[in-house]
Amino acid sequence: MKINSNYLNLKDNYLFADVAKKSSEFAEKNPTVKVINLGIGDVTLPLCPEVVKAMQYAVLEMGKKETFKGYGPYQGYDFLRSEIKNYYARRNVELDLDEIFVSDGAKSDVSNILDVFSKENSVMVPDPVYPVYVDTNVMDGRKIQYINANEENDFLPLPDKSIHSDIIYLCSPNNPTGAVYNYKQLKQWVDYALDNKAIILFDSAYEAFISDDSLPRSIFEIEGANKCAIEFCSFSKTAGFTGVRCGYTIVPTELTFEGNSINNLWFRRQSTKFNGVSYVVQRGAAAVFSSEGMNQVKENINYYKENAKLIAKVLTERKIYFVGGKNSPYIWFKCPDGITSWEFFDFLLEKAYVIGTPGSGFGKNGESFFRLTSFGERTDILNAAGRLKNVL
Ligand code: PLP
Repeated sequence: MKINSNYLNLKDNYLFADVAKKSSEFAEKNPTVKVINLGIGDVTLPLCPEVVKAMQYAVLEMGKKETFKGYGPYQGYDFLRSEIKNYYARRNVELDLDEIFVSDGAKSDVSNILDVFSKENSVMVPDPVYPVYVDTNVMDGRKIQYINANEENDFLPLPDKSIHSDIIYLCSPNNPTGAVYNYKQLKQWVDYALDNKAIILFDSAYEAFISDDSLPRSIFEIEGANKCAIEFCSFSKTAGFTGVRCGYTIVPTELTFEGNSINNLWFRRQSTKFNGVSYVVQRGAAAVFSSEGMNQVKENINYYKENAKLIAKVLTERKIYFVGGKNSPYIWFKCPDGITSWEFFDFLLEKAYVIGTPGSGFGKNGESFFRLTSFGERTDILNAAGRLKNVL
């Protein structure tokens, strides 16, 4: 019996453990100080009333013989997939129900999709990056090439035609940077993928934070993307489902490689290894798309976005370079005076009693950058913004 030795090539990631350790050490030494955590990557507002109502009703249905449900369809119930189809149609993206796969979240799908690709493919990921894209490919032993996201390109790297890659990861709005690609930039990626016969894995987990109509919320708003892209989306940040678990993946029927439909392969993979998302959760997810549900989740998203604006305002006033904070819950800024991400972490904790996430934890280009999130309470954000203003 041999293990998958690729797992031994995984780098230990102590980022959040180290943040937690330093934070608790500081709290122990300074018990009277109120520390504000702007490092949270999780939502804090509860589920909206429409979702709660739909899930409560679904639980009651499950308790009656006439309406009880056992295993559901592998791709998700039609009632939810129809809502997702209509949601895309509002942005002029026409989908077939067969192209929509409901799952327990974007993390699972963005990882599991690799099952249907050869381990010989080369992979391109931006640096800094959401670490899941890297680690899941290391587990399979694929070769990873990094493209630089930095101040020069405002953390929105574009394709380098001299480099070939088979699998390309894009995340917009981006975690950790909050940067968002425009149509022209995404078109360059789609053209590059088509020229290279490559596939784009497009993570749109934060699309609901885009309120600027001039920005694309789906890769399928770009012509040609249905021949080279898969999109991963999630109810986690849109509707506070991080603990409930639900997401969806769009695999176009036109997407073929070596004469094989990726949609068919993914269906085969899911129907073999996955038994669907619970009926109760899918009812809750469908309620997000009702007009009341949409208004309620928008209210929560706007709350987070207003928080982001308050933090961004301080950085603008202090003339500190940053991206994000507008169409994203993340604010990514340059540490002042050229200090390292961890030096700035210590400085901010000791002088402002604010916790954030050192950018170096997301890749080498994250060094000397820092991530703050807007998922906190308004009063905390206001206090943190005041403290930031004093120390920056
Ligand atoms: N993709 C990105 C870029 C994320 O930041 C996250 C969560 O933080 C996920 C996917 C995971 O989403 P889910 O909760 O749907 O698994």
